[in-house]
Amino acid sequence: MAEKRDYYEVLGLQKGASESDIKGAYRKAALKWHPDRWVSGTEEEKKTAEEKFKEASEAYSVLSDPDKKAKYDQFGFAGVSGAAGGDWGQGFAGMDLNDLLNNIFGGFGGFGGFGGGRQSSGPRVVKGNDLQVVVRLTLEEIYTGCEKEITINRAVSCAQCGGKGTQNASDIKVCPTCNGSGQIRQSAAFFFSTSATCPNCNGTGKVVSNPCRNCRGTGVERVRETIKVNIPAGVSHGMSIPMRGKGDVGPNGGPAGDLYVVIEEQGHNHFRRDGENLFYTRVINVMDALLGTEIEVPCLDGPYKLKIDPGTQPGTVERLRGKGLPSLNGYGKGDLYVKILVWLPHKLKKDEKKQLEAIRNSESFKIDPTREDRQILEKEINYF
Ligand SMILES: [Zn+2]
Ligand SMILES: [Zn+2]
Repeated sequence: MAEKRDYYEVLGLQKGASESDIKGAYRKAALKWHPDRWVSGTEEEKKTAEEKFKEASEAYSVLSDPDKKAKYDQFGFAGVSGAAGGDWGQGFAGMDLNDLLNNIFGGFGGFGGFGGGRQSSGPRVVKGNDLQVVVRLTLEEIYTGCEKEITINRAVSCAQCGGKGTQNASDIKVCPTCNGSGQIRQSAAFFFSTSATCPNCNGTGKVVSNPCRNCRGTGVERVRETIKVNIPAGVSHGMSIPMRGKGDVGPNGGPAGDLYVVIEEQGHNHFRRDGENLFYTRVINVMDALLGTEIEVPCLDGPYKLKIDPGTQPGTVERLRGKGLPSLNGYGKGDLYVKILVWLPHKLKKDEKKQLEAIRNSESFKIDPTREDRQILEKEINYF
């Protein structure tokens, strides 16, 4: 057997290197020398790579084991000679690169943590897109609150490959462009470089050589999904209700985005809305205004009988407390304002005209400028 190199030297480390330094150094060596990386190399390159990788694996198998490391530190190769060290190394060397990295480094997500911060960013775990869906509601539905079924077109984990992007785990390889880091260095100036998302793997650090047919290797597929949304009472137009995790799932196992249910309030036949208050305009005929009557207001919780006093002026506004919309926080309700307008007949029959002429100049029909009715008439009411 050729002369053995010192395990620390093999991994480019100093004696006394920390556990994370050892891990980081082996990861680097594995990414460089693993046979998976040299599939298209020359025979000589393949042989060199294999030897280098075996050497690094053996070094790591000893230095990563506190017991063996202590013996090696004290006695050198003599302390760890025999099957133990070699077997461990063979075990690592026999692994597929991806499995190896997953086993040793706890999956791709763990890359960034090693190396004492020297490697600032690892492969990105990409969060899925947020989705938005509009739900149209009537004022009645807003008044009571409701449950709505909505259908969305959503990216979910591929059912065929379980989101892995391929049927076989061995078809998932470390991205050769970025060495699995998901980032590539870009030289911006002589001594200055920036990192950017790897274009080959879109930052995932992985490439799939035999992609799943169903999802074309993305691990996600789009499906139509119908979900129930609880709309609380009192929502308003343009408001959006977030549903966490109901958006698209991220590629390569990234977390799902959110779904935003945007409220669209349909116009109402009777009411105009301003916040929690409602506004309603009612036209009554001149005789009802003169003599008084009772009208039915179509409130959202059912008809409400409203007494119209004799002599009600056009433009009079009645306030029905608590007949508006519930507040979203559940405390109290708004009011319903009813504005009375008075309709005058366009044409009168002869006898009607005669009867009205008889009372035209009577005292009660004269405008009294001191009465507060005039103020009502002149007051501008903006809401209606
Ligand atoms: Zn890449
Ligand atoms: Zn698939």
